[in-house]
Amino acid sequence: MSLLVVGSVALDSVETPFGKRDDALGGSATFFSTAASLFAPVQLVAVVGEDFPSEHVEFLSSRKIDLAGLTKAPGKTFRWKGRYTYELNEAHTLDTQLNVFASFAPELPAAYRKAEFVFLGNIDPVLQAKVLDQVEKPKLVAADTMNFWIRGKKAELIKTLERVDLLFVNDAEARELAGESNIVKAARAIQRMGPKRVAIKRGEYGAMLFDHDHMCAAPALPLSEVFDPTGAGDSFAGGFMGHVAHKGNLEPNTLRQALAVGTVVASFTVEQFSLDRLRTVTREDVKRRFSEFKKLIHIDELA
Ligand code: AMP
Repeated sequence: MSLLVVGSVALDSVETPFGKRDDALGGSATFFSTAASLFAPVQLVAVVGEDFPSEHVEFLSSRKIDLAGLTKAPGKTFRWKGRYTYELNEAHTLDTQLNVFASFAPELPAAYRKAEFVFLGNIDPVLQAKVLDQVEKPKLVAADTMNFWIRGKKAELIKTLERVDLLFVNDAEARELAGESNIVKAARAIQRMGPKRVAIKRGEYGAMLFDHDHMCAAPALPLSEVFDPTGAGDSFAGGFMGHVAHKGNLEPNTLRQALAVGTVVASFTVEQFSLDRLRTVTREDVKRRFSEFKKLIHIDELA
C-alpha cells in the first residue's frame, strides 16, 4: 500500500572516531525511503538545491521511490554537520543549514494525496503539518522529530503531534519532549499529547514500542562493526513503516514484526558511512538477519 514521506534530503558532513566524510548523501527522507522501498513503494516529498548531485537523484530513482514530489529550487541543498564520540549513541550537531528548506511550500502531486501510510520525517513541524493537510484519508500518520525542533519550535511541534498516531523518537528526545526522565512515564506523557503509539529508539540498547496500553521491546543486534550511526533512526522508521505498509494493517503482530524489521534494517545502516551499506542491502539480506535476530531473542518457556 502507498507510503508517503516528507523529510530532509541532505548533504551531510560527518565525523566519527573511525573517519570523516564531507557532503555525503543524507537526510531523514533519504534514509527512510531507501529503507522503506525494500518493502513497499514510496512517494517522496522534499526539496533540494541546484548543487544537489544528479547521481543522488539517479540512485533514488533506481529504487521503488516516486520522485514526483522532489522539487529542485534555486539555492543550496539542506546541510547537516555532526560528530560522534566513542559513545556512538548520540549525534552532536555542529551545524544545520536549512537552505532551500527555509522557504519550501510543498504541493503534493495528485497521486500522493491518496496515500494510506504517511511518515512525517524529521523536518520543521510546520512543514510536516502542511503536508498532512493535503493527504485525504490516511490510515496511519507517523512522525519523527529531534531536539533541534523540540527546542526551536516546540509549540508548532505540539500542534502537529495532536494529529499524529505514531511518533518515533530517541530516548533523549522523548525525555526532553515530555520533561520526564523515566522512559515509560515519558512515553505515557507523549501518548497524552496525541500519538497513541510511540516508538522509542535507544541506540545500541534497542527499541521499544508503546501501543496504547501495551509495550514491546527489542534489543539491538550486537554488531562487531559500528562505523557511523547517522541514519540509524530513519532507517529504523523506514523498515518499520515499509513493513506496515506492505502488510497493510495495524494488528499488534504486524507492529511487533515491524519493530524487529526496523531494528534489522538499522543494523545494516550503521556498518558503513552514510548510505554506503544501506544502498546495497537486499530484502534477502534483511530476511537472513531477521532469522538471526529471532534466534537471538528466543527463550524457551520455563517448564
Ligand atoms: P538519524 O536517522 O536520526 O541519524 O538522522 C540523520 C539525518 O537527519 C541526517 O542525514 C541529517 O541530514 C538529518 N538531519 C539532521 N538535523 C536535521 C534537522 N534539523 N532537520 C531535518 N533533518 C535533519
